[in-house]
Amino acid sequence: MADTAAAAPVPAPGPASAPSRSRAWGAHLIVLALAALALLLTLNDEGRDLARTQTIGLMLTTLVAALGLNLLSGYSGLISLGQGAFVAIGAYATAVFRVDAGLPWLVAGIAALLVCGVVGAGIAVAAARLHGPQLAMVTLVFAVVVHRLLVELPRFGRLSGYPNRADHGSGLVDPPRLFGHAFEPPLFAGTVPTAMILVVAGAVVAFTLCRNIARSSWGRSLRAIETSEIMASQVGVNVSHRKLAVTVLAAVYGGGAGILYLLIYGHLQPESFTLFLGVNLLVAVILGGSGSLLGPVVGAAAVALLSDSAILDELVAAQQRALSETWYLSGEGLVALIMLVVLLVLPRGIWGTIHHRAVSRRRARRAHTHVEPNEPAASALQSGDPTSEDASTPAPTPTAVLAVSGFGKSFGGNRAVDAMDLTVRAGEVHAVIGPNGAGKSTLANLISGLYHSDSGSAVLQGHEIRSLAPHEISRLGVGRTFQTPLLDLERSCSENVLLGSTITGSSSLWRSALRLPATIRRERSETERARELLRLVGLGAASDTPAGDLSYGQQRSLEIARALAGSPALVIMDEPGAGLNPHERGVLADLITAIADSGTAVVLVEHHMDLVRSVASRVTCMAEGTTLASGSVDSVLADPAVIESYLGASRTEPSSSPDDVATGQLEDGHV
Ligand code: ADP
Ligand code: MG
Repeated sequence: MADTAAAAPVPAPGPASAPSRSRAWGAHLIVLALAALALLLTLNDEGRDLARTQTIGLMLTTLVAALGLNLLSGYSGLISLGQGAFVAIGAYATAVFRVDAGLPWLVAGIAALLVCGVVGAGIAVAAARLHGPQLAMVTLVFAVVVHRLLVELPRFGRLSGYPNRADHGSGLVDPPRLFGHAFEPPLFAGTVPTAMILVVAGAVVAFTLCRNIARSSWGRSLRAIETSEIMASQVGVNVSHRKLAVTVLAAVYGGGAGILYLLIYGHLQPESFTLFLGVNLLVAVILGGSGSLLGPVVGAAAVALLSDSAILDELVAAQQRALSETWYLSGEGLVALIMLVVLLVLPRGIWGTIHHRAVSRRRARRAHTHVEPNEPAASALQSGDPTSEDASTPAPTPTAVLAVSGFGKSFGGNRAVDAMDLTVRAGEVHAVIGPNGAGKSTLANLISGLYHSDSGSAVLQGHEIRSLAPHEISRLGVGRTFQTPLLDLERSCSENVLLGSTITGSSSLWRSALRLPATIRRERSETERARELLRLVGLGAASDTPAGDLSYGQQRSLEIARALAGSPALVIMDEPGAGLNPHERGVLADLITAIADSGTAVVLVEHHMDLVRSVASRVTCMAEGTTLASGSVDSVLADPAVIESYLGASRTEPSSSPDDVATGQLEDGHV
């Protein structure tokens, strides 16, 4: 499939990915400029305004912790209230390794990050099966436990803090040194707080790595998990591994923030790491705009400014002047009120809203928000194989891509699929028809690994796949679409298609974070291929359009493009014709034929007999989980049993409507 698509004549590349590339650079430039400003404000000051320097330090510490939390909660949708605990662990572990173990600063810091990673992995494993509020509760309790431990352990002393004054003359962790120069913390007037150089550098490195990860296929797979774990698994993402990895990554970011905190204060007290730190960090992510690159930057700045006592005093005084001397909100109350109002007015967060409006405006300027399908798509594929006019003669490619025998699945007492056999060859479209509830989607889910068959076997290109995980099956060459499209509606079409490339393996976290040349090359070729595939399915003009702006039929086409991005040997389409008008079904028929002609095997679950007739070479009709008839199109559609139990009804009511499909079924994870 890859070869054919690549061989297809490709129109001149449009400017599709240019804006996203420049946006990512824009974000980086903004952060570099802010970093330079932070250095200018703090180093020039010679410690005269310690409070301001500490506020800037707090901003940067919050930023680093929020960046990690954004990957976890914003991108992957795994809500955590425990990020503050990792800041504490990072800070305390570094201090203990430095003060008690006498390790060099750098080694102490790296060891502390390792500790955070290990603890993060422990939490991830323990909470692997939890989602949403349950997961948030576990992380909240974790934060409470860590805080209580710090309070109770005598070594970390509630009153004297750590290092303890009694044990250590100055009560401060000594600042790191380089070539005899000490990086002084912003604690003493009259000294240049050079520790801020390390803090700013740490924040810039943390942002750069985060930006690289977010832009990579690794980062896209996080968003896929947030969109739908089922969908993610079907594009080859090992969901449980990826969730573990992002939890560890977020923990390490939290630990990194802890190290910066220690550089700024040189002294730790449990009161700095209460539950509210984790809440504040989550607020920073949401307030800024979760799931966006610059969201945590804006959110961290806002949260740090709102915790600056001078600013708060000013706000309280202004409130007293304007309203009342006796009835007014304290600083804490004001902060809560401001955050409440901002979150209510800007549910996407500050940066999230600005970004969203800018994108909408850009789209509105491009006159064609409604995307016209580009017709020649399917012929582009066919031109790679000029011998393929007749889809009903797959004789030259007799290889069985998939051979299912005796597949069965029960839900409680309901035998949804029973003793099903199905053989699909390369270049063949095998239609599966039958009344609603016949078990067609269940069969598709069994083949793609979402359900495990309780009997029989399935061999995909020589591999027994019956007991494999969904991501393993998709990596062996199965792409699919869903009865109800599963797309990231907020993201552009090309990003949705790019997700499909994850099947061929995303770059490792390290490669993504460092954005090595090989990763960049890979991303470019995948982006180019995504655009080719969009053109193929008639969405060439919609690369940058959010999937949510597409019509229902176009969303189905987008899913097909995503399924093809992994160059599958077998594509399973679950009712791709649902909700399409006859003309659109004609275009779809050309596309399916072209896909099959390129050598890909297609399993087509469909209700529209015009579509089945025009593309399928074989048909299996299911009823109540079993095969009613199987064979050539003409023989099955003329079979009296098929006519009686299915076609008689379906001629008058040929399709489940999009609305039928969209409601109900997905709620219990049924796809
Ligand atoms: P079709 O796609 O042919 O309309 P399905 O495969 O969706 O049919 O459903 C076949 C039968 O299996 C139905 O009775 C349906 O209710 C049942 N079923 C499918 N998935 C589930 C599930 N996750 N839990 C319980 N029952 C299910
Ligand atoms: Mg179905």
